[in-house]
Amino acid sequence: MDGKTRNRKPTAAASSPAITPGENDGTPPFDPQINERMAKEIQMEFGFRISQLPSKVVRSTGIVPLCLFLLWMLLIYTNHYGLTSMLIFLSVNPKMCSGQLGYWESFIHRSTDYRKLFTETRFARTLRLDSPALNPYSLWRGVVVISFSTSLTYIWIALIALRHELWHWKPELLERYLVDAKASFPGRHLPESWLNSVFNLYESEHAKRTRNRIQNRNHRASDDHRELLKVVRCVFRNLLVSSCVVFVMWLALLQTQFDSHNILKLPRSMVPPLQIAVWHLITDTFYYFPHYIAHTPRGSKGIHHKVLPEVLAERLGSFLRNAHKTHHRSKANLAIAAWYCSVTEQILFNLFPVLLGPLVTQIVADKTGNSTVWGTHLITLYVWLLAGTATSVLAHTGFRTSWNDPGSHDEHHEYAFGQHAVNFGTAGLWDRVLGTKGIKSTEGAIDWQHQRLKQASLAIASKRTGIPLTREQTLVGEQQVLDYEWIDSRVEE
Ligand SMILES: [Zn+2]
Ligand SMILES: [Zn+2]
Repeated sequence: MDGKTRNRKPTAAASSPAITPGENDGTPPFDPQINERMAKEIQMEFGFRISQLPSKVVRSTGIVPLCLFLLWMLLIYTNHYGLTSMLIFLSVNPKMCSGQLGYWESFIHRSTDYRKLFTETRFARTLRLDSPALNPYSLWRGVVVISFSTSLTYIWIALIALRHELWHWKPELLERYLVDAKASFPGRHLPESWLNSVFNLYESEHAKRTRNRIQNRNHRASDDHRELLKVVRCVFRNLLVSSCVVFVMWLALLQTQFDSHNILKLPRSMVPPLQIAVWHLITDTFYYFPHYIAHTPRGSKGIHHKVLPEVLAERLGSFLRNAHKTHHRSKANLAIAAWYCSVTEQILFNLFPVLLGPLVTQIVADKTGNSTVWGTHLITLYVWLLAGTATSVLAHTGFRTSWNDPGSHDEHHEYAFGQHAVNFGTAGLWDRVLGTKGIKSTEGAIDWQHQRLKQASLAIASKRTGIPLTREQTLVGEQQVLDYEWIDSRVEE
């Protein structure tokens, strides 16, 4: 167990004695207040505000919406300047690719032959499995691409976050992985600096990030390798379940007038933001209510008790509570455990609300005949599902970075099934409307922004005055919100 940064006492930095330079070497001590005063003035300077703007924008919007915005800008550009024409040229000219797809082509041909044999059987005809919607190319675009890219996004973000966790609580393990990776076949052919950066990116940054942990506790899996294996096995099972559910969603989408072919004709610039806003609202609604009901303690009367008969409300409550309890086995968060939950929860909470939006807009398009605006586009669907997966994992990292603040979900896990449970939604709309938005996580994010601004201005002040910062001043940006008393003694562990 690494005692360097773990279980830091909330007031560690605040209570540490100020070591003023010059105290021990006989030179007159500096007045640390000079830097403090100047830092305040610096924060008012126009140039300072401008220099802090980019990180402020990333922090307040979040990395996923920002990436979506940049993609949208790219879409506007391509719609206006015809980058698509080049892509179309490359794809409609098969000669350019001939000879490079040998294995893939033979796989497609063989699987098409087997499929043909299968679909001619009586069993397949009865179940209408001979539908053209089920041809391999359609399944490739709708199921394989989506499953593969979302799984990869999940695993990739979870591993990046896990690297910091490992550095924190099992540094020797990370070291061993690095040695093993260097000894492996690909490792022998890759530059050493690449591997070093993958396993040990910026030594001091690791410490800083793990100190930015929001809750002063660890996920169960970080103390028990059997628990970690349980999490990994459960997550892989849920990734497989997700592929099956995506398959069902794809079949449903193909029953509409959804254009599953033209992947190269991009949607109009204004369409993806509009559709994603609608999908976001649908997701918030269909995620919020089951999640809210699941967190209503036994015996308490939630909104569902007002609209449903008592027996039904009780049954629904205990069904959803049971489905959701695996995910809350640990109060602390770990990125890889984002989809550590029961199959029922994976389908009802994590998949159904996200997959419903694209289906709804396509049905609206069919009914209104306005497919240009409401028709679900394959590219928008891909972006939406990747963004949803990334957001889900990022909400579980457990520590603040300058571009990701998982505070509200940490607060949700901290209070779990207690009377003070908060933050049930994805977009926060229903949380605001029904007053279940956590206050502490919002305050925490604002506090941290102020601390970071103070840290940056103190660094500039120290340069200008030539007076070194005291230990307390160098820790300003790292102190974070650990002095939060989130632990609710009334909530059972
Ligand atoms: Zn929950
Ligand atoms: Zn969670």
